[in-house]
Amino acid sequence: MSQSGNPDETRQVDVVVVGSGISGSAAAMTAARQGARVVLLEKQESFGGSAALSAGMFWTAPTAEAYNARIPLGNAALGARLVGDYEEALAELRASGARVAAEPKMNIMTFGIGYSTDIHAILEWCRQEVRRAGGETLTGVTVTELTHDGGSVTGVTARDAAGRAVRYAAPAVVLTTGGFQGARDELTRHIGPNADRLLLRSNPGSVGDGLRLARAAGSGGTTAMSTFYGHLLPFPVSRFETEDYLPYSQYYSGSTVMVNLRGERFADETKGDELLNQDVTFQPEARGILIFDHHVRTTEVIQEPFPGLGTIDRLATALEAGGTYAEAETLDELVRKVAAWGVDQDKLSATLEQYTAAADQGGGTALGVPVSPTARPPRTGPFHALMVQPSITFTFGGVRTNSNGEALDHDGRPIPGLYAAGADIGGLSNYGYAGGLAPGYITGRWAGRAAAQRATTGTRRSPEPIRAPELIYAGGPATEKEAS
Ligand SMILES: Cc1cc2nc3c(=O)[nH]c(=O)nc-3n(C[C@H](O)[C@H](O)[C@H](O)COP(=O)(O)OP(=O)(O)OC[C@H]3O[C@@H](n4cnc5c(N)ncnc54)[C@H](O)[C@@H]3O)c2cc1C
Repeated sequence: MSQSGNPDETRQVDVVVVGSGISGSAAAMTAARQGARVVLLEKQESFGGSAALSAGMFWTAPTAEAYNARIPLGNAALGARLVGDYEEALAELRASGARVAAEPKMNIMTFGIGYSTDIHAILEWCRQEVRRAGGETLTGVTVTELTHDGGSVTGVTARDAAGRAVRYAAPAVVLTTGGFQGARDELTRHIGPNADRLLLRSNPGSVGDGLRLARAAGSGGTTAMSTFYGHLLPFPVSRFETEDYLPYSQYYSGSTVMVNLRGERFADETKGDELLNQDVTFQPEARGILIFDHHVRTTEVIQEPFPGLGTIDRLATALEAGGTYAEAETLDELVRKVAAWGVDQDKLSATLEQYTAAADQGGGTALGVPVSPTARPPRTGPFHALMVQPSITFTFGGVRTNSNGEALDHDGRPIPGLYAAGADIGGLSNYGYAGGLAPGYITGRWAGRAAAQRATTGTRRSPEPIRAPELIYAGGPATEKEAS
């Protein structure tokens, strides 16, 4: 962190929020409602980040137990508070007047509970609340640096649309820049060379600024750095624009048999598409092949996985996009067609045979790979094979925080004046996925409340001891550590 040189203008506010997605919008709204003078800065020409591209499903784990079961490597302390705050956050959204479905959708991403929302109305309402309280919301302004005084963060330096350097002096800064999925060097460091093959399924502004700024301020890293959210897409695709993000996603992959380019299975498919998307990244050329039958073709492939995603024929969309595809009346014929793509024919035949045998016996393993008791092998022709590739929407690793939204240093101590939320924080999801919008909104509220408290009273928000998140190691959770 370095003190900025000579800004063209210096302005004093209480809270600076960096990034206007769901977490930044919630943080800014919450801080403004607490009486803080807030400025919300967005680098792009429009507000909303990936949240504005999303399907608007506001969901997470239904209970702390369900969170821990689905995300055993997740940060249990953050997860428990996330789940505990969900109902209150939902009530706040309903009170805003934005559309929130009356009935919940169950088993989202196999285990979650959530409500369909008008996410654009929610984002707009947050910004209106900021402005109503006298705050500002600005686009075209990129935060480039944090400023500090001793160990405390004292504001940011930003570059506005006209290229002017503006210093915003503030006792509290909230980082909500949406993750580091657009930073190829950072992805490659954590994921490996196949990171270059991940299609970016995100707003283009989330390139790791929050992580970089927090590190420069002494923030300690988190775990979960090689894990991320995304969905399988056809391979290849002739174009991939923001309007293609939802229709190209092959959400039904959990109902298929998935093999790599060698013809081998590598994961229990029923884990769901967002986990298979990560698994396939580590396979040869980061490519997979989905094999499924007429039953899946006429059910899961065309059904809406949850409200807001649209009832479309995802296979037809994949073919329009240029995806590699084969169809045959028998499985043997399909295997021969897939072999023409360079896949080992004998291996693929053996994979399908063993998988079917294991599934018929109620699950187990096939060639060393788990087969779920709920697995349903391809039985009725015509049979289909679609080549797929992984994508990245946001990263699960990031700034280490406690459940007050305070950024922590390497020893687990809060960095005075620095807060983070949403996809900028690490470890809430870790391979398993706890949702994006609800965790963003809820952690944004934590950070906004704590930032406003510091700015308006000069004190830490919580009277109770601040707890650092659990340190998670490969072998399981270590003990929770008190921050001083
Ligand atoms: C197609 C799609 C569908 C999705 N559907 C769902 C869904 O239905 N349910 C769900 O839970 N999740 C969904 N998600 C995920 C969800 O949108 C994200 O998890 C969520 O938006 C993350 O919130 P955020 O505030 O952390 O980041 P974002 O919403 O991405 O916002 C980050 C913002 O910060 C800005 N920024 C970055 N750096 C700077 C800087 N230096 N200065 C100023 N501004 C900066 C960026 O430009 C961006 O606007 C979906 C995502 C996509 C792409």
